[in-house]
Amino acid sequence: MMLAGGLVMPQLLTSCGGGTGSSAAATTSKNIGLQLYSLREMVKDDGIQKVLETAAKMGYKNLEIASYDNGKMYGVAPGELKKMANDLGLKITSSHVGKAYSKEEEAEVMSWWDQAIEAHNELGVKYMVQPWMPVNDETTLDDIKMYCDYFNTVGYKTAAASIAFGYHNHDFEFRQIDGQRIYDYMLDNVSKNHVFFQMDVYWVTVGGGDPVAYMKERPDQFKTIHIKDEKEIGASGKMNFQPIFEQMQANNIKDWYVEVEQYTNNDPEASVKQSFDFLNNADYLK
Ligand code: MG
Repeated sequence: MMLAGGLVMPQLLTSCGGGTGSSAAATTSKNIGLQLYSLREMVKDDGIQKVLETAAKMGYKNLEIASYDNGKMYGVAPGELKKMANDLGLKITSSHVGKAYSKEEEAEVMSWWDQAIEAHNELGVKYMVQPWMPVNDETTLDDIKMYCDYFNTVGYKTAAASIAFGYHNHDFEFRQIDGQRIYDYMLDNVSKNHVFFQMDVYWVTVGGGDPVAYMKERPDQFKTIHIKDEKEIGASGKMNFQPIFEQMQANNIKDWYVEVEQYTNNDPEASVKQSFDFLNNADYLK
């Protein structure tokens, strides 16, 4: 406890004494997170070590990965990846990982999750997040309910490893089935103790929802956030991030991740840096 207190102090001094945006990114006290999908081309071209170094140099601190496959992440054993990140002062707190479900393949699916949970336990993440589910014109509310039950089961399994299980939205969850918005139906039909929601604020907005209203109405269901815009954070003018961050602070949400999926100049590294600078310079983000 003493050690933790000692570590907090310099951060407080930095945030109280510093101006806005004048200090070097690497010394920021802000816990700015990044979904590494944002640098997926660099992962392919230069490898994960270079990507971690790039994120650390920009000033990002909190990472979410999206690369789990057969016990490894980015082709690296979880313990090794954890060390690579920690050596650069980075923490990997979350991972996007998912599997389709069918009753016929239940045993195989659950065995797949057992291996995934073991690997993520070794990586030391707080969250495992499934970022999709199958929805098409034929999908019924019963199908959605089946996935809610499936997610409950997975969340029950991750909880045994002290990992919270979440679901990340796009905009298709804002379609209606039988007059019900899929997203709201999911929020109402999962076990709140076993499944949280990672709100992607851009996709909620595109889908016609209000990210702030959702956080206000269901403070116990949103644990983590994707800070996303059409391209770079803050660039489109379509997203109002100040009330979003104010509500996140009111809800005590600590873990959130920038996601950049499209790039104005076809330069992912520049877009990810621009997004960091936008948030690092934002007075409303403490
Ligand atoms: Mg997202």
